[in-house]
Amino acid sequence: MSELLARHRAVLPDWLALYYEDPLELTHGEGRHVWDAGGRRYLDFFGGILTTMTAHALPEVTKAVSEQAARLVHSSTLYLNRPMIDLAERIAALSGIPDARVFFTTSGTEANDTALLLATAYRRSNQIIAMRNSYHGRSFSAVGITGNSGWSPTSYSPLQTLWAHGAVRGRGPFAHLDDREFTEAAVADLRDLLGQARGQVAALIAEPVQGVGGFTSPPDGLYAAFREVLSERGILWIADEVQTGWGRTGDHFWGWQAHDQAGPPDLLTFAKGIGNGMSIGGVVARADIMNVIDTNSLSTFGGSPVTMAAGLANLTYLLEHDLQGNARRVGGLLRERLRAGTAGMAHVREVRGRGLMLGVELVEPGTDRADPARASAVLEAARAAGLLLGKGGGHDTSVLRVAPPLSLTVAEAEEGGDLLLSALRATA
Ligand code: PMP
Repeated sequence: MSELLARHRAVLPDWLALYYEDPLELTHGEGRHVWDAGGRRYLDFFGGILTTMTAHALPEVTKAVSEQAARLVHSSTLYLNRPMIDLAERIAALSGIPDARVFFTTSGTEANDTALLLATAYRRSNQIIAMRNSYHGRSFSAVGITGNSGWSPTSYSPLQTLWAHGAVRGRGPFAHLDDREFTEAAVADLRDLLGQARGQVAALIAEPVQGVGGFTSPPDGLYAAFREVLSERGILWIADEVQTGWGRTGDHFWGWQAHDQAGPPDLLTFAKGIGNGMSIGGVVARADIMNVIDTNSLSTFGGSPVTMAAGLANLTYLLEHDLQGNARRVGGLLRERLRAGTAGMAHVREVRGRGLMLGVELVEPGTDRADPARASAVLEAARAAGLLLGKGGGHDTSVLRVAPPLSLTVAEAEEGGDLLLSALRATA
């Protein structure tokens, strides 16, 4: 065991998991690459769990951060904060939510926590509908809406949660339905769930594409169909865009837009990529919902000028360089390369996803059973070949997650795709 790993184990919690049998220490990055402490270079197909959204060491972001840091790192929400107001205006306009207000936090978990605070206060109810297999963070309230015990450290949430079907077709009773039948079945399930609920339900929260859950998308339009049912009862719809926002899915700027007959959600939460690695999270909500609570702030660090400078520079860059379009084009090429290369591989159940959010689901060869050990083996083999990947899925984490920075080039997509295919062949 390396000296650094021994120190990690001695001082940090036992549950702080590390990837790889011989864990990596990353020391720097540039573009779509990172380097370890031994000077070895890796193509980064996980971007620090989708946080390095644009590119590592993007000069525009580095400059904005260092200039702001040299002036003022932090003041607090007690004083006017120009970069925070600038970024809030841009996000409000992009959100599609009418009369939008924005509140910044420092993480996705806090963003969802705030959304729950608002929705429960607005509706005077602590009942929330969440989707099976979901992931929304690990605070005291977020674990209560995270539908996968593998990702929930405890089960003592203060919320009453109703679990809806619809995010994943999976292997269950809905597995063989087509999109229309599946949507009808999920809507019928939602109606049934609401019929069983006692009293008022506050909100439904969903990831438009489930992230940690293995990059699974419901049929387009599903949340529009849900929304009809919700609207009849005044129930709010919260879109958790922590992974799907900012063009990651290629076809859309926000994940909810795949369901866009429904219009924007009542609340939208974001985090991860907007700061290109700096800690920014937040909630966008209609003013009447945002202003339902009576308080003075909810966060000391949310909206910190240095992170806001990063967000502004990053957002400007990704819009000016149409990284959403790049995610669509390059992600589409990568998906087809992976589909073609895995055809006939008995341990690959499916290559799925949209834009630069692609999942490769592994199974025990020739069966439908998840194979988490093989997913770990592929991760190791890819690392040995110079490619970093992620893992996800249900309680069985058997899905490889491919989510490179959105500036990925065609040549890098081809190189990384081929490295992934070799790792899959080596572990067949
Ligand atoms: N929501 C989703 C959809 C996420 O994927 C995550 C993080 N994986 C979170 C919320 C929580 O974000 P954070 O880790 O920044 O608290």
